[in-house]
Formats: sequence, C-alpha cells, structure tokens
Amino acid sequence: MKRIERVRLYPTARQAATLRFMLDVTRELYNAALQERRDAYRLRGTSVTMKMQCAELTGLRKPLGRIDGRLAAVYRECEDAVLRRLDLAFAAFFRRCKRSQTPGFPRFKPAARWKQLQFSHGDRALRFDARQQRVVIPGVGAVRLRKGRAVPAFGRAWIVERNGRWYACCESERNVQPMPATGLTLGVDRGIHVLAALSDGTLLPNSAISEKRKRATARLRRELDSMSVYVGIGRGRRCVNKWDSRRIAAVERLARAHEREANSRRDYAHKIARRIVNAADVVAIEALNLRGMTRSAKGSIEWPGRNVVVKAALNRRMLDASFGLLERMISEKAEESARMIVRVDARFSSQTCARCGACERESRRRRRFRCVACGFAVHADVNAALEIRRRGELRLTSEPHAGEKPVALHSAV
Ligand SMILES: [Zn+2]
Repeated sequence: MKRIERVRLYPTARQAATLRFMLDVTRELYNAALQERRDAYRLRGTSVTMKMQCAELTGLRKPLGRIDGRLAAVYRECEDAVLRRLDLAFAAFFRRCKRSQTPGFPRFKPAARWKQLQFSHGDRALRFDARQQRVVIPGVGAVRLRKGRAVPAFGRAWIVERNGRWYACCESERNVQPMPATGLTLGVDRGIHVLAALSDGTLLPNSAISEKRKRATARLRRELDSMSVYVGIGRGRRCVNKWDSRRIAAVERLARAHEREANSRRDYAHKIARRIVNAADVVAIEALNLRGMTRSAKGSIEWPGRNVVVKAALNRRMLDASFGLLERMISEKAEESARMIVRVDARFSSQTCARCGACERESRRRRRFRCVACGFAVHADVNAALEIRRRGELRLTSEPHAGEKPVALHSAV
C-alpha cells in the first residue's frame, strides 16, 4: 500500500533560485519535446518515441553537442521523468481517441502550470541526513526541512512549489496495520443539511472553515476583481493588466487564502475519516457516481439577479467535493487499517424507513423523518445512514447483487 509523505522545505534564496531554474529547464524540455513530436508528425508523418528522445537528450547533455549547457546543469533523472510524463500524456491522448471520447491534445506548459520536479529513484537521489533535518537535492545542496514525522524509505519523490513554498513529497510502501475488531458496522450518508451523517446518530457539520476565513477570502477576491481591467464579454473576456505587479501580488494573496481553506478542509476530512474507520469493522457508504456529480457549468449564461441560484449550485458542488474527499480518505484509511468498505446503492435511502422498510415520500419532512407506516422518528440524515448500514449488512450476508434493488430489499415486517 502506498502513501505519500509531504515535508515542507526551507531553501535559502540561492537554493530556491536553483530550484526555479530547474523548473524552467525541465519545462522548456517538455515543451521542446512536445514540439518535436508535433513537427515530426505534421511535417513527415512520423512519430517520435520516448526512447528516441532520451537518446537525443544524452547527445544534448554531452559537452560537444551542448547548446547552452542548461540541460546538462539539471539532474538527468528529472529530465528523464519529463520525457516520460510527455509520453504518458500522449498515451492517454491516444487511449481516449481509441475510445472515441473527446481527448485534449497534450498542451504546451506555461510556467504557472509547471510546479514539480520528479525524482523517480527516490531516496537514492534525495538523501535525508540521519536526523532528518536536511535533505540533499542533486544540484541544489543540503536544504533545511521541517522537523516532524520521520519519513520512511521511499520510492518516487517530487519537489513541489506551491504559492511560493517548497515541499518534498515522498511515496513509500506501507504495511497494513490491522486494528482491533469492534464488531460494529457503520453507515455513512452524504447528508443534505450536513456533510455526513453516521448511523450511530452523529451529525458531522459541513465545514471546519471559520466564517472569518471565508470573509477574508471573499475580501481578497473583491480586491482582485476591483484592480483587474477586462475587455470583452463572456468566454472572450480577457484581462488586460494581467502582468501588473500589484495585481500579481493580489492573485498570490488569494491563492494563499484558497490554499489555507483547502488545508483546513483536508485536515477536517482526515480527522473525521479516522474517527469513522476506528469506530467500525465495516463501513457502508453510498456508491458515488462521481462523473455525474461533477457536471461542469459549461454554456451557462450569467444573468443578473440569478446569482442566488448560481451560488447555491456552487455551494452544492463544494459539498459534493468535500464528501468526495471524505469518501476517498475513508477508503484510504480503511485500507491501511484492514477495515472493510461496502458501497451500496443509496437510491431512495432518504425516503425509506430504516426500521420497517416502507418507502414513502411522505415520511420525510425536511430534517425530520417520521415513518408513515410504523411511526419511527429520527433526524432524516441519520435515518438514511441507518438505511445505508442496513443495505450494507444485507449485501454482506446475502447474494452479491442484493444491494442493487433498493425497493425490494426489505422482507415484510
Ligand atoms: Zn417504518
């Protein structure tokens, strides 16, 4: 089982400049290699493979074939990883072509979209000192890092820049550590009024992000809008003063605020997921149709006075994203703790009584659930969580496809 450990790096000004140089060179290499592949196909109808480009790179790095020496100044392994990345981009493109989906042709990368250096050989390239206070990066030197959890032996690793901060991300193989059995099954429902409801009656509120932080982000957004000058309308709208230094500073402040929000959301999801996985041997959860969930707002027209609807839709998407994150973390933690996850069809779970199985629309009144058949009354989201748990248990005990017919699930009581 693989896990990624992220460590904050504190490069000196000179080291940071070297890292940015490495980003520049690898990005130029990516774009040049992409250009070469495009030209070869357009002009000669031939294709260039990764192997050919690797051989070419060897030539370009040699003292004789060297053009400006920039390529040779960067660690070879990072450059190989770039060529592999391009190769993967093309492979993905052709794969989608074959399936007659609508593929995007691999694109040239602007500096804003090129933020990581890959070290495929991991700890053979990036060497931590014994007390893990520094890491030696080839071509950069010993970079100070944040003391925290020990980083175990790792395979692939990346140096990543994000909003002016640098991180090392190390992927390592971990052993599964089974947790003591509790004998319990927990149902988790994606609530409508809450982020999630558990079958033990717990309601997990939506966001740990404080109102204060949200207001701060909104203020930064307004600030950025007020100093941007646009021409054109709709999709043709362009910002004219994109490179104004004051505006760039505002963009960075907003990006940092968004990062903080994302950090807080992730931290919250980690904690909840851990609590859920610790509490039960089996976690029953709704099988999400993620593709249908993340519908894009393509082609929508902004209409004055309709902002409320737009906002509500945005809010809905955010909640979906938060639950998606939680779901992913539950699966990850379940895997590392040898817990079981059962994904069930959750259709009609909000209208179905978890006690008697009657599926009636009238049973649900906003936040309350009160069964019209048996009188079972509970918070609506908790009822759905109980129902999901029930379907999960059924799925475990009966034939594999039992969970797929929600209406026929219950025997008459
Ligand atoms: Zn009932």
